[in-house]
Amino acid sequence: MTEAPALELRDVRKSFGGICAVDGMSLCVREGERVAVIGPNGAGKSTLFGLISGELRADAGDVLLAGRSLRGVELARRARRGLGRTFQSARVFAGLTVAENVELAQVAAGRDGGGPEGALAEVGLEARAEREASVLAQGERKRLELAMVLADAPGVLLLDEPTAGMGREERVAIMELIVGAVARRGLTMVFSEHDVDTVFAYAGRIVVMDRGRPIADGTPEAVREDERVRRVYLGGGGVSADGV
Ligand code: ADP
Ligand code: MG
Repeated sequence: MTEAPALELRDVRKSFGGICAVDGMSLCVREGERVAVIGPNGAGKSTLFGLISGELRADAGDVLLAGRSLRGVELARRARRGLGRTFQSARVFAGLTVAENVELAQVAAGRDGGGPEGALAEVGLEARAEREASVLAQGERKRLELAMVLADAPGVLLLDEPTAGMGREERVAIMELIVGAVARRGLTMVFSEHDVDTVFAYAGRIVVMDRGRPIADGTPEAVREDERVRRVYLGGGGVSADGV
């Protein structure tokens, strides 16, 4: 059976002035895969996510969703085609309540949805439904953003550092929540992450970026042993269980 990959990048490039942020990324993600994109600060991960979701326009190359090119397809239409994303710093409507945020996402997605309760329960925010989003803790904001993106029924979910700024317990809680939601819906997931524990616990496959390029791509076990990864990304120390 030859099925188009859920997401494909073909030699995608993006420069900012003299800085080549993404310097020829090619990648094939199959349906249902859980791929972590890792690499040092400035490696190009967030730029890559922006190129996939359509916030940024690529200088060259192509992004395909389920075999269809997204060239010239704007952000909102990419979302309608099934591409969902969350941001390193969660984006919610601070002046609205938690429930209103979800309702807004449901309306924007063209569904009456039967109310926000189910979506809020799934991310563990039902007790916060009537609170204003501005008072949420960072982890709660990330949960809300997740509920909102899921309301759009994505097929491919891009998560840029879903655990940014969290302590260990909260990281585990939010990752369990994410992979649960992803598994229930059979979604394809691509996430960036700097916490090595989280990467190895939750990724089925790891792509390592350095200076805008992929330098390794494989199972967690293979990437852990990769000499180049150790040298470039981990400073020769190897990938240890505690992320040092
Ligand atoms: P990462 O997410 O892996 O930390 P980024 O994609 O944020 O990396 O950044 C990659 C490189 O591109 C960095 O050198 C960064 O300074 C640069 N960069 C990213 N966004 C912009 C921008 N909007 N304008 C100029 N340079 C940028
Ligand atoms: Mg980033």
